[in-house]
Amino acid sequence: MVPVVKPALRRGWRDLNTVQFGMAPAHALTLGPMDSATGSFLDLLDGTRGLPLLREEGRRMDLPDGHVDTLVSRLAGAGLLDDAKGGGPAADTLRAKKEVLDRLRPDLASLSVFTAEPGDAIARLAARRSLRVQVRGAGRVGALLASLLAAAGVGEVDVRDIGRVERWDVSPGGLPPESVGARRDEAPRQAVRRCAPDRPPRRGPTAPPSDGDPGFSLVILAPRDDVAVHAPAPATAEPLITSGTPHLYAGVVEATGVVGPLVLPGETGCAGCLHEGRTDRDPAWPRLVAQWRSGSGRSRPVRPCDVTLATTVAGLAAAHALAFLDGRLPASAGARWEVSLPALNWHSRPVWPHPACACGAGEKVSKGEHTAEDADRHETMGEQRSPMKLCREAEAARPAGTWRAHV
Ligand SMILES: [Zn+2]
Repeated sequence: MVPVVKPALRRGWRDLNTVQFGMAPAHALTLGPMDSATGSFLDLLDGTRGLPLLREEGRRMDLPDGHVDTLVSRLAGAGLLDDAKGGGPAADTLRAKKEVLDRLRPDLASLSVFTAEPGDAIARLAARRSLRVQVRGAGRVGALLASLLAAAGVGEVDVRDIGRVERWDVSPGGLPPESVGARRDEAPRQAVRRCAPDRPPRRGPTAPPSDGDPGFSLVILAPRDDVAVHAPAPATAEPLITSGTPHLYAGVVEATGVVGPLVLPGETGCAGCLHEGRTDRDPAWPRLVAQWRSGSGRSRPVRPCDVTLATTVAGLAAAHALAFLDGRLPASAGARWEVSLPALNWHSRPVWPHPACACGAGEKVSKGEHTAEDADRHETMGEQRSPMKLCREAEAARPAGTWRAHV
């Protein structure tokens, strides 16, 4: 291990023997008591010295025997230490691609703020390169969202849509003006390739897309149609539920932006649960939805989609997607986050698992059957590592509450 005190967290002395790491309350920690000699020693943990050399430096500075090892393990235990050479073979491959890594450095530094173990941050970043995500819908939200995921290092972002790019699909970061008239699935793929810090080797011709492709770590539904955003059709997600593919909803309806729910099939509320819950609360809901949907196919004016709202939704949805892909459970699991113009207050509406929904999440809740086994089942759902398991590991690895700074 080549220890480095996480440079992403700014350091400051709160008093003569307490150091605070980090500024923002969400991740700031204090460490103490710490004498000034040990404090100076922290500067040597900069990723250029291995442990034997650090012990030597410690002796030169008259630090007591074993002090360096205790300090290093204490910093590691508090989640404040990274390993300049850690993260495994995939991380080594990423380090070897200097230009790629340089583009991702701010993202890597950000990951280091909340990952616990030394080497975790670059391991997570490197793992993104082997992930496959599909974005369905290439309007102002979907096209930008796909580009953001590619820019964050997700290896394969597949975009699906039909028709041709219209002038009103264009947005900064999404589809460029020169793509107007191009196929709506091809144009965003080009935009995605431009954003990717590294282009993975081209795959051969792939099999025709199937709705429930279990090879995707996540499918994001970002429909251009506002009815599909407001009242997502359970039938559309059925193959995803059946194949156990996690999926996330995002879009703009009228002047409201929506992110969520993130659906973990059989565990958190899905589009069917949402529909059943709404019908329970409002008997007129199915009648309204039927009318909205029957109007969807007709030729109609361009639907409202504020460019700043679409950009906000795309950014937030991409962040939720990344959190999940990195092994955490974001706040959109079982909830829709909504924001409306012009006041722009974000709030979440829970999407409870419903016992009448075929996805099975509601049945488990009513029987109290959610167990660790269910979470483990996720491991067999796809080729990827299990985000649920990682969530638990990450939570278990969090530094004890006593380390948390009162700031
Ligand atoms: Zn359901």
